[in-house]
Amino acid sequence: MAKGENPKGKGEAARTAITPTRAEDYAEWYQQVVRAADLAESSAVRGCMVIKPWGYAIWENIQRELDAMFKATGHKNAYFPLFIPKSYLEKEAAHVEGFAKECAVVTHHRLIEGPDGGLVVDPEAKLEEPLIVRPTSETIIGATFANWVQSYRDLPLLINQWANVVRWELRTRLFLRTAEFLWQEGHTVHASAEEAQEETRRMLDVYETFAHDYMAMPVLKGPKSAGERFPGAVDTYAIEAMMQDRKSLQAGTSHFLGQNFARASGIKFHTKNETEELAWTTSWGVSTRLVGGLIMTHADDDGLVLPPKLAPSHVVILPVFRDDAGKARVMEHIDALAKELRGARFGERRIEVEVDARDIRGGEKQWEWVKKGVPLRIEIGPRDVDAGSAMVARRDRGTKDKVAVPRAELVHHVVATLGEIQQGLFDRARAYRRENTRSIDARGDFDAFFTAKNEERPEIHGGFALSHWCESGACEATIKDALKVTIRCLPFDLSDVAPSGDGPGKCIVCAQPSPRRVVFAKSY
Ligand SMILES: [Zn+2]
Repeated sequence: MAKGENPKGKGEAARTAITPTRAEDYAEWYQQVVRAADLAESSAVRGCMVIKPWGYAIWENIQRELDAMFKATGHKNAYFPLFIPKSYLEKEAAHVEGFAKECAVVTHHRLIEGPDGGLVVDPEAKLEEPLIVRPTSETIIGATFANWVQSYRDLPLLINQWANVVRWELRTRLFLRTAEFLWQEGHTVHASAEEAQEETRRMLDVYETFAHDYMAMPVLKGPKSAGERFPGAVDTYAIEAMMQDRKSLQAGTSHFLGQNFARASGIKFHTKNETEELAWTTSWGVSTRLVGGLIMTHADDDGLVLPPKLAPSHVVILPVFRDDAGKARVMEHIDALAKELRGARFGERRIEVEVDARDIRGGEKQWEWVKKGVPLRIEIGPRDVDAGSAMVARRDRGTKDKVAVPRAELVHHVVATLGEIQQGLFDRARAYRRENTRSIDARGDFDAFFTAKNEERPEIHGGFALSHWCESGACEATIKDALKVTIRCLPFDLSDVAPSGDGPGKCIVCAQPSPRRVVFAKSY
């Protein structure tokens, strides 16, 4: 783009491509980043989103990497029905209570012509038993597993499903909370509690590895408090990430279901000793919410910033030319370069290259790719062809920060720089989390941490407070009612955010003994 040109066009003073900025209005900034990157849009159906090609390509990359990790840990994919008979949902009491208020229910199976020409529901076509559009599939999968599992030889049973689910949410936000969303749900059956617990922890570790190595999003992992458990679970574990407004995002959960769902669905097996026993089950899932997490961890005031490992395109090449002769020469050069780049690898993937030769202004074109978050932009014009070099810009640096790279070193430079960006984004997110995490022992400091800054910047919250908690639901509720702050998890390891260590102390609310610090935060 021309020097001095800014994303809002001539004559305006804005220095950022996204308005408002994060500091001005974080929630609106998020919506604008989604729009500017062309990731998704609201649909005619309330609360349901249309995921557009650029957003869906990110989800496909997430899917592909996770799918490989699930298969590497012994799981197989299968598919189960969208509809769940109402009676199935009723089998597990806590589960019903957790989901009943947000269910889409199918009651009829036919439409007929109404008196004024439109369609009406045929009252004759009422279903004997209403069907629930799955909010999660424990009950329908449990009923199926009851048939599949007969003997200890059938165990462990390790199944994953990629699907859509529906939870009738009243307040929705693209990717973060939508009535319909895409996800994967793992469902496994084991012969012992120990094996099921091991599986629960193994998949939590898989989620952590994925968050760190692919999303460049640092997470804290650990069990949830009883009040935050999945309805029907014995234990729920989560990975929790800090977003740039310092709120926590629950990015993935893994549940040890004990024998609750096996009992509800009748999953029993014959042991080696010919006795019959109830099985032990787990479930675990992540969803398109991860795309929201990716945006809120890395995007800046110029738009989306993508970690190279999940970017649909690693590199965009932008030809610069004035006339047809110049275009022909530049394009020939670029075609050869694109071919060479596509033959190289970054991690397990081939380098994905976009060549944008559209006939639109260079500045406009450049900003489009900045807003879409492509890790590297390469500009090549006739002078670069003559000089045997190219101008390379990184999305994690300022938009005017470009370096000339000799053609012979370009492929190597691209691969090395993608690695630097991937690591750099993780390091930056981790430093941000550290800066905004405090060990807090006095209730007054705790309240101030979650309220003081809100007066000036209502979108920005305190951060993570590492405080003691006596494990009582009453103290947890006191904090939630007063500050809308919840316990995000009881982390296994706090060493990255609290280097001084952990240990017993006194509850932040009631001063009773507490075995360890927990993570308090506002959350999505
Ligand atoms: Zn307490």
